[in-house]
Amino acid sequence: MTIRGKVVAITGASSGIGEATARHLADLGAVVVLGARRTDRLDRLVTEIEAAGGQAAAVRVDVTDPEDLRSLVTVAVERFGRLDVLVGNAGVSSISPVADLDTKGWSAMIDVNLKGILHGIAAALPVFRRQGSGHLVTVVSTSGLKIVPTQAVYAGTKNAVRTLLEGLRQESTDGTLRTTSISPGYVRTELIDNAVDDPTARAQAQQHMATLGLDPLSVARAIAFTIDQPDDVEIGDLTIRPTRQG
Ligand code: NDP
Repeated sequence: MTIRGKVVAITGASSGIGEATARHLADLGAVVVLGARRTDRLDRLVTEIEAAGGQAAAVRVDVTDPEDLRSLVTVAVERFGRLDVLVGNAGVSSISPVADLDTKGWSAMIDVNLKGILHGIAAALPVFRRQGSGHLVTVVSTSGLKIVPTQAVYAGTKNAVRTLLEGLRQESTDGTLRTTSISPGYVRTELIDNAVDDPTARAQAQQHMATLGLDPLSVARAIAFTIDQPDDVEIGDLTIRPTRQG
């Protein structure tokens, strides 16, 4: 089985990389179960996918609540019979030097970027074990590969997820669980709009992103590539960045 017919749940499917991934996987014949807080956007996306002949469902998910992740997985299993892939994509970024002591932003990044992934694992793993197969894909970041000022905490959350998945992989070498960490560089999404408080710095960052950032579809294609492998092939880490990114 490659992508066609697979049931794929995606967190953070209401915009950016998650939305592009939902569209792309649905185009390739996957059944997609979409989670995020902005359900109006998810409902529109479901309507579009169904109008194009695909299958999709939407669930209100706040990844900081473990119960919401259980609901996402339950909808996949009860409506479509199984869950083949969980794409843990929901994320937030709050960019500032550590010395600015943005404790609220730190907590949000830890709660969404790290604990949100743990909650997804807690919900999906029992189903994967029962089925005898499953695939966890997480969207981490090149911020964790090249550490730069103002992104220390964001990078820390992404590298914590990278470490978590490698540990889980080491514990799961019976051939039933695949784990993948995708590290995108700059991608043109809404992430930056909420990442910087100072309006001037935000405008600069948005301008930078607009000229350099990848189309989110590029990351969606990379995610599809990792899913579209035979069961005995695991793409563990994949880095995708603009060719001109330093
Ligand atoms: P967007 O801001 O466009 O998308 C973020 C998504 O996460 C939205 O769908 C949002 O949905 C969701 N989200 C945020 N908080 C929560 C929450 N508490 N519960 C559920 N969903 C939540 O940005 P991107 O598409 O860029 O971000 C996707 C992932 O890619 C993130 O993990 C980000 O860190 C990562 N990334 C992005 C890069 C970039 O340059 N854009 C580079 C490297 C990694 P809603 O608000 O509706 O809940």
